[in-house]
Amino acid sequence: MLNPNMHSFNDPEGPKVPDGLPPVTDAHVHIFPGTIFSAIHKWFDENAWHIRYQMTSSRIFEFLLSHGINHIIALQYAHKPGIARQLNKYMAEKCREYGNRVTGMATVFPGEDDAGGILQDAFDAGLGGVKLHAHVQCFDMNCDHMDHIYECCRINKKPIVMHVGREPKSTAYRCDPYALCSAEKVEHILKDFPDLKICVPHLGFDETAAYRKMVEKYDNLWLDTTMVITDYFQMAEKIGLGHYRSDRIMYGSDFPNIPYAWDRELKELKAAAISRDALEKISAKNAADFFNLGSQPAWKDGLDFIGRNTK
Ligand SMILES: [Zn+2]
Repeated sequence: MLNPNMHSFNDPEGPKVPDGLPPVTDAHVHIFPGTIFSAIHKWFDENAWHIRYQMTSSRIFEFLLSHGINHIIALQYAHKPGIARQLNKYMAEKCREYGNRVTGMATVFPGEDDAGGILQDAFDAGLGGVKLHAHVQCFDMNCDHMDHIYECCRINKKPIVMHVGREPKSTAYRCDPYALCSAEKVEHILKDFPDLKICVPHLGFDETAAYRKMVEKYDNLWLDTTMVITDYFQMAEKIGLGHYRSDRIMYGSDFPNIPYAWDRELKELKAAAISRDALEKISAKNAADFFNLGSQPAWKDGLDFIGRNTK
């Protein structure tokens, strides 16, 4: 549960991805146009924590890539109907500047007119999947109109990242995530769309135990570690990555919207009691599978180390 007085750590940050980690893909990074970012900074200051890294989208990519992150999955979400096309255009343009170092996800507001068409256009423009956020977008994932979104992703073989865990909830949201979200509802989608790839962020917090069991049972479900392998949230269950199906968990950070050092979670990942094979999978290989990164355009000439155009 978020509250207006959550603390921000002033913990020291490292200059690079910690030594000893394999190549890292960050599967959960947020970018937005400046006006929306300003509103998000304000919302977090009033309802949760102070966001430590208040940067533009380009600076976010440059920061992570120059600190040794190999590949970035960039996410956005439309908080109201009618803005998704514009946000998708923004995402596609930003990602194009960084060649194959960044993969952008589309957004759509569930229930808005022509949701399927909006997504199809975004995929045609090169976006690699879609991100949905039940707390901000207030959708019922089992509602009929969601099928347009699931169908469009399935047909295009594009994954969905959907924040449909119930935490971290906030009373400042327009809806109650506990009324809208449950692991059981996700299970309906997994059964109805067996060839649709779904990632639930934050390991499904607060139903982490239910999600840990569901990844054992369903090959179309992935989870990301975003913010829940640090010690930040009070959680009923202590997370032990060694207890998870290792080919279904992806590292993600929630950068830049975090209250602590950018590498805090990477240090936890490095210290996790898991095999080297599991570490390589969680750090990057599972994200490559989930987001079809092998099908990204090949490395292009004319890009510098961090993927900016040099021509
Ligand atoms: Zn996030």
